[in-house]
Amino acid sequence: MKLDRGRAHVRNAPAARGIAPARALRRSAERVTHTELENRAHIAYVRAMLTEPAAPMPIPGHIDPVPVPRAAAARPDGRIDLIGLSKDQLRETLAAAGLEPRQAKLRAKQIWHWIYNRGATDFALMTDIAKAQHPWLTERFVIGRPEVVEAQVSSDGTRKWLLRSPDGQDYEAVFIPDADRGTLCVSSQVGCTLNCTFCHTGTMRLVRNLTAGEIVGQVMLARDSLGEWPSQPEGRMLTNIVMMGMGEPLYNFDAVRDALKLVMDGDGLALSKRRITLSTSGVVPMMARAGEEIGVNLAVSLHAVTKEVRDEIVPLNRKYGIEQLLQACADYPGANNARRITFEYVMLKDKNDSDAEAHELVRLLRHYQLPAKVNLIPFNPWPGAAYETSTPERVRRFSEIIFEGGISAPVRTPRGRDIDAACGQLKTAAEKKSRAELDRIAAEKQAALG
Ligand code: SAH
Ligand code: SF4
Repeated sequence: MKLDRGRAHVRNAPAARGIAPARALRRSAERVTHTELENRAHIAYVRAMLTEPAAPMPIPGHIDPVPVPRAAAARPDGRIDLIGLSKDQLRETLAAAGLEPRQAKLRAKQIWHWIYNRGATDFALMTDIAKAQHPWLTERFVIGRPEVVEAQVSSDGTRKWLLRSPDGQDYEAVFIPDADRGTLCVSSQVGCTLNCTFCHTGTMRLVRNLTAGEIVGQVMLARDSLGEWPSQPEGRMLTNIVMMGMGEPLYNFDAVRDALKLVMDGDGLALSKRRITLSTSGVVPMMARAGEEIGVNLAVSLHAVTKEVRDEIVPLNRKYGIEQLLQACADYPGANNARRITFEYVMLKDKNDSDAEAHELVRLLRHYQLPAKVNLIPFNPWPGAAYETSTPERVRRFSEIIFEGGISAPVRTPRGRDIDAACGQLKTAAEKKSRAELDRIAAEKQAALG
């Protein structure tokens, strides 16, 4: 990890910090004497804050079986992972641990910068924080990264990480380099409740929402792996993010929003909202909020133009139909000709790939006057899937018809096939564990905490 020690040193000067160092040091040393009881109360407080129950998700009946809301597991060593906290949450966490308000505010600002701008994971490297305070921080907190179970690099440069959370949940992230950009495909859930019939992720038995820390952690890990610290806008490999990994981001709205806010913060990872795309299968009631509160580009998994076919392949369509979905797209805040909505269309042989369907797609997008582009995705087959990929000729003709209708419709070339890394088609080893096994692992970890 490359750290700019020179500049950090300057910032470390007492005058630069604007505080009386001797007093500040004494004060922080006093705070180190926590009783075990205080520690436990503090850990419980912060844990409650971090795992505060998410707002109830809109659950459309039998189409969308209830996802199991599972609080993020505590670390076996009882320390708090600071990844995923906003600046305010970080300040509150430090204050709850015993720092007085002014000190907590200053330290939060410094630590936040070290985390998201420098990629630091070690308090000892934080040269603008009094040395005497490093052990106090290290005893109580970590700056974690997701545990990497497996990292693979494809012959075309695509990288895939299989990640594991402390409670034994597996999820994946994929980095896809291109000539002019590098895109990280980020997961929002372990598994998905929505069961689209062509999607491997939808077949996973266990579903849990990832926390904001686990979501932004995927970006941190990719930055580590690409050697992209300190954060700088120019010359990066990781330039774009797509929420197209495992899960439905709009069923984990709060955590996705909080994580993307961290990703977009100009003092930290500083990725522009124009370089972030959120893909949804069509959770209509959450789309306006996504536009207003996150403001990133929108991609919609349309995949079919008739009720009959979409009901089958994207069962959420039975709850929120095509017309409702397209109207929500027309109302999406921030969409215009410069920021088009992407419509994803997976090409399934003899299912949704006829000329008539291409013409109907053009008609629909025009009817709703949508600033649209269409991404044609050749179906990526998986063992047991009930579909085949459309022939290249069919895909080409389908694309031509849409282009002729005045709408851009590139065919997305599959990447990382040799490592099974096609974005949006992720499924991890988690499927091999039953719910009972995962519950047992979580209970053991909990017991280890005492
Ligand atoms: N749940 C969200 C985001 C994750 S899926 C959504 O559905 O939009 C990301 C994209 O990958 C979606 O467009 C999805 O339909 C597509 N996808 C899933 N499985 C696929 C497969 N086997 N072949 C091609 N595309 C697939
Ligand atoms: Fe879930 Fe998206 Fe897969 Fe459908 S396509 S099952 S919404 S991850």
